[in-house]
Amino acid sequence: MIASHRRASIPVRVGAVTVGGTAPIVVQSMTNTDTADIEGSVQQIRSLARAGSELVRVTVNTDEAAAAVPHIRDQLARVGVHVPLVGDFHYNGHKLLKEHPACAEALAKYRINPGNVGRGSKRDPQFAEMIEVACANHKPVRIGVNWGSLDQALLTRLMDENSRLAQPLDAREVTREALVVSALESAARAEELGLPHDRIVISCKVSGVQDLIAVYRNLAQRCDFALHLGLTEAGMGSKGIVASTAGMSVLLQEGIGDTIRVSLTPEPNGDRTQEVIVAQEMLQTMGLRSFMPMVVACPGCGRTTSTYFQELAQSIQSHLRHQMPEWKKSYVGVEEMTVAVMGCVVNGPGESKHANIGISLPGTGERPVAPVYIDGDKGPTLKGDRIADEFKALVEDYVARTYRRRAS
Ligand code: SF4
Repeated sequence: MIASHRRASIPVRVGAVTVGGTAPIVVQSMTNTDTADIEGSVQQIRSLARAGSELVRVTVNTDEAAAAVPHIRDQLARVGVHVPLVGDFHYNGHKLLKEHPACAEALAKYRINPGNVGRGSKRDPQFAEMIEVACANHKPVRIGVNWGSLDQALLTRLMDENSRLAQPLDAREVTREALVVSALESAARAEELGLPHDRIVISCKVSGVQDLIAVYRNLAQRCDFALHLGLTEAGMGSKGIVASTAGMSVLLQEGIGDTIRVSLTPEPNGDRTQEVIVAQEMLQTMGLRSFMPMVVACPGCGRTTSTYFQELAQSIQSHLRHQMPEWKKSYVGVEEMTVAVMGCVVNGPGESKHANIGISLPGTGERPVAPVYIDGDKGPTLKGDRIADEFKALVEDYVARTYRRRAS
């Protein structure tokens, strides 16, 4: 499913993935391992790819990290993981890319932050060196501007120009403009240096929702580059999820955004794949893409006095997520399935009938039975201690009967 009103952008090939044009909106993520730790990075990239990340960015900040990149790429290939890797460069990227040609070759895209390329007179030649390596290796580049590392010389220039206006803009508006100008001037410079137009992706990440919306609307009007959307420093837990979703969904609804990353701060030792799951759920909930069968569950209320209902909903959700990588390989369209898990007779049968397969659990005071509905029709009624397992078996059976097998 693709929004019919997607802003027209120039498609960019990143390894085997297309970003922009009419391609589906791409989900990407970033590792938080030390890239020099080859084993740890391979493990995390495998998890992110298995969760559905279609591009994975790794930081390339030291000689050791740059030297590790080709080994990471090789080890991933040996276990059948071919997700394109994007190198994130700051300050010394020109040096690392030149001194580690195998790293430059192994990466599918380079991310360059124009605010962190180098100061003063070093800035332009160091930016040019990175673009030259990209051209020589036929790699695309993301010009990734960030609110927290905005090019200060550019900001000062725009502030000075603004102060001479009859009706100057406020400082926030000038800063928003500086983000856009930094991205567009850097992209123009990259093209002058020989990087083709269709090898440039742009991002302007900020940490405020209103700033994000204003900056990307402006950017979308002023260029046809593919746009990478993301709220930077979104935060932890529900705050990060809500902030990212609030900002990005407004833009996605307007057809703006070709690839997204949800930058969540994980809990200590938390699961990095959460950012992938949130990004997928955002796109699927908006009807822009389908990744995973959706569980429709009621919130529960005084009619569901035990935790059994929540446990079953969670268990079904985990089961679907666990099965999906295999199902996806075997069955066409299974990601569009909906499964209802409802807490009582009030809305249970009705909602279950709307789903592909649904179960209506007994609420307080109801007979201890759980009718199952399949494609809108009443199916078996489950009871006893094995309702969860029996329902999962019915879901498995439904998938095998309903979705066409892929040709092997
Ligand atoms: S379906 Fe039943 S248990 Fe669920 S929220 Fe509605 S009334 Fe409550």
